[in-house]
Parts: sequence; structure tokens; C-alpha cells
Amino acid sequence: MSHKIAVMYLGQIVEMGVTRQVASAPRHPYTRVLWSSLVRKQTVETTSQAAEGNWGVYDFERPLSGCRFASRCPVYLARGRPEACINPHSAPQLKAVAEGHLVRCHFPLRA
Ligand code: SF4
Repeated sequence: MSHKIAVMYLGQIVEMGVTRQVASAPRHPYTRVLWSSLVRKQTVETTSQAAEGNWGVYDFERPLSGCRFASRCPVYLARGRPEACINPHSAPQLKAVAEGHLVRCHFPLRA
């Protein structure tokens, strides 16, 4: 239906690009989690999301500094909670990772 897509998390675009490229090789951790959960639903896997991680309710009255996805990000945890991800002065901005493919992440995933 559309040849371009934008993925949003808490009111911010976190990834944007050609649909085929974003779908086949998501570079933002949230897009990858989102996409994998859609694929799981389609394949009717039984693993519950709650068993895979802490997906608690976001506290809008006390928003996080820096990256809005940090409290749920598997890359943030795997990298030892880097300061850059939660520092309000270094909140990630949309950056090109390929032609026409933008990602808001300090550590974009490999294609
Ligand atoms: S900036 Fe850090 S916390 Fe945010 S999505 Fe990227 S790795 Fe995760």
C-alpha cells in the first residue's frame, strides 16, 4: 500500500525509510521488537511477551531523559546501560544509516 514507512515510539519517529528496507532489516531496536512480535503473532507462537522482558507501563508524569525507549531497550541492557542513551543532553536524533533510511538510535542495529 505504501512504499515508505515511519515507525513511532512515544510520539517520536524512531525509524523511517523504504518499507521493504525497514521491514527486511530494521535498524532501530524498537522496530525490531515490534516487527518480531508481529511475525510471532502471524506464526501463532505461544511465548508470552511478559516472559521475555519487562514491558511495564510507561510513566508519562516522569518521562525518561535521553532516549525514550531506554527502559525497554534490549541493546541498552546488552551494552551495559551506556550513559549516552539516558543523558538528556545527548538524546538520539534521526540520522541516516543508508540512503533514505533514518534511525533515532546511538547504536543502530546491523542490517
Ligand atoms: S539510543 Fe540507546 S536506548 Fe535508545 S534505542 Fe538506541 S540503544 Fe536503545
